[in-house]
Amino acid sequence: ASLYGNTERRSLGTRPGAVSGKFVPPVRRGNSGDNNCGQKRGAAAAYGDSDDGNEPGPYDHMMADPRFKNIDSKMVELIMNEVLDTSPDVHWDDIAGLLDAKATIQEAVVWPMLRPDIFSGLRGPPKGVLLFGPPGTGKTMIGKAIASQSGATFFSISASSVTSKWVGEGEKMVRALFAVARVKSPSVIFIDEIDSLLCQRSDTEHESSRRIKTEFLVQLDGVGTLREQVLVVGATNRPQELDEAARRRLVKRLYIPLPDQQARRQLLEKLLSCQNHTLTATDMSWVATETEGFSGADVAALCSEAAMGPVRAIDPSRMRHIALDQVRPIGINDFRKGVSSVRPSVCQDELKLYTEWNCKYGITR
Ligand code: ADP
Repeated sequence: ASLYGNTERRSLGTRPGAVSGKFVPPVRRGNSGDNNCGQKRGAAAAYGDSDDGNEPGPYDHMMADPRFKNIDSKMVELIMNEVLDTSPDVHWDDIAGLLDAKATIQEAVVWPMLRPDIFSGLRGPPKGVLLFGPPGTGKTMIGKAIASQSGATFFSISASSVTSKWVGEGEKMVRALFAVARVKSPSVIFIDEIDSLLCQRSDTEHESSRRIKTEFLVQLDGVGTLREQVLVVGATNRPQELDEAARRRLVKRLYIPLPDQQARRQLLEKLLSCQNHTLTATDMSWVATETEGFSGADVAALCSEAAMGPVRAIDPSRMRHIALDQVRPIGINDFRKGVSSVRPSVCQDELKLYTEWNCKYGITR
């Protein structure tokens, strides 16, 4: 299957503004009383539990593991159903450009997961990696590639969902997440928008957010102590908002920049490889040059826009019956039109912030 096809991503949360998935939190905002009765009612409602609680759950067999002591079985079930991502099938070659970042990750985390015997002691892997940079540059793809290339179980979660949806339950959820990751080790926990989970302390900070953050850091400190391989990969577009304690723990901090011309060209070729098109090598180089400042996601959006050109040329009355081979190929003119309507989503000022932060805190090999 093509990388650019829809590999289903089961994520507990979504980016702000995105349509949320089918996830049903056990306790919704507003009914999160601190008393246990309230929580039980919430969980029971979410799962349609019978009151006697004798119904066997699909993960009961796992719960016998001592690492699940004091962990809510309903939370474990949620993690298995909603945070576990069973299809992180991304290969390094699928990710255009980013040669340095890929090489660093290979050495720092993929090989250690494959060969824990060689990578121990001084060569021990980091517990946490931070991928920072503009949106749409491949950070999520890298998280998936780490998991699929190292054969690790992949957990994918959006941090804003932990803090906003799980009011009153966030700490429990973080504990359960790490417990499941340990049991399913080797594991990669990918946390999108990690800045919203591990932001700097402020006077207006909610008490529950502070508790989630503390729990997260405690859990992060605890991984790897029992020869379990759990790697946390955080992604952020706002590295400057990270709490200092969190930043220190995410020891490998890698800048994932906008793609350069060569990477844009590579991406373009990949995206067009399964399409009917007439672009020559020179045309592709022209598009790669014209898309200076585009993120990988912007290049993908441009290709989608250009791909609509041939469809828009079809007379609407023929749309229902036209044969596929009668749809004209995508041409350079479709891209010419596309570059005037699809604009880069990241501005220069933002880029400056990333390069400055990278100079201060970024780490490569
Ligand atoms: P991020 O996590 O950095 O916001 P994603 O990894 O979710 O970005 O990328 C969004 C989409 O943009 C991907 O599905 C892919 O189509 C495209 N994309 C971005 N960067 C790259 C890249 N370096 N190589 C290939 N595709 C990319």
